[in-house]
Amino acid sequence: MLGRSPSAHYYDAPQRHIAIDKLVTRMDPDGQQEKKYYRVRPARWYGGIVTADCSGCGLLCKFCWVKDEVMANPATSGRFYTPKRIAGELLAIAKKRRLSQIRVSGGEPTIGKKHMLQLLHHLQGYGLNFILETNGIPIAADVGFAKDLSAFRDFMHVRVSLKGCDEEEFSVLTGARPEDFKLQLKALESLLDAKVGCHPSVMSSFSTQDSFNALIRRLKDIDPKLSQNAEVEELILYPHVVKRLKKYGLAYYVGHEPDQVPADQI
Ligand code: SF4
Repeated sequence: MLGRSPSAHYYDAPQRHIAIDKLVTRMDPDGQQEKKYYRVRPARWYGGIVTADCSGCGLLCKFCWVKDEVMANPATSGRFYTPKRIAGELLAIAKKRRLSQIRVSGGEPTIGKKHMLQLLHHLQGYGLNFILETNGIPIAADVGFAKDLSAFRDFMHVRVSLKGCDEEEFSVLTGARPEDFKLQLKALESLLDAKVGCHPSVMSSFSTQDSFNALIRRLKDIDPKLSQNAEVEELILYPHVVKRLKKYGLAYYVGHEPDQVPADQI
């Protein structure tokens, strides 16, 4: 179903993450790395999870649920938070809503590595679970990242969201270089090596069963745990997503209305 234009120009995914980092992070005088967030909220996913939505991602997934204005303008979306301040807001909502899970979403949480590590430090010791949702690119591109995250493995689990099932699908869905797909797999390998709890989720709405099966075999070759724990992620048809898919002429096999997402994907 997916077809690549021979004239397409792909971007370098690690480099684009670095460029976005410069737009959405800054250092404060105390050595804290501030990062931009545009929303903090309780969300229905994972059975209930407090979520801080950060601005900016180094990929440009055509199916991304983030609104166009935030995707296109991370530098002007949201406002800067110190790690301590965003941790405080997350903990306050968790207490008020009696939720025990926390995540950062809405963009790529691992942009601003220092901020992420400082945020985890401020969240450690409260008996909560932190789910790090990432596309994996910054973790793969930085040899020390997975090891640094391992300091928080007592309360953190990493979900690496794979954009399609192979290099071809990845490049069509994100516009990034096909070879950068391997970085997503490399992130999983690095996390396993650092003994950080992790699993892959797979955006499979644009994939044939054959390509999905081939990915499962690749994951199994890395570690059978990855293939056993692979999670299926399917398209949610928010109006702005439908509009974007039409603009790109991107067809899908499976998609769900926002109020009809299968229970096992919430
Ligand atoms: S990696 Fe996630 S946040 Fe970034 S563009 Fe893709 S779906 Fe959106």
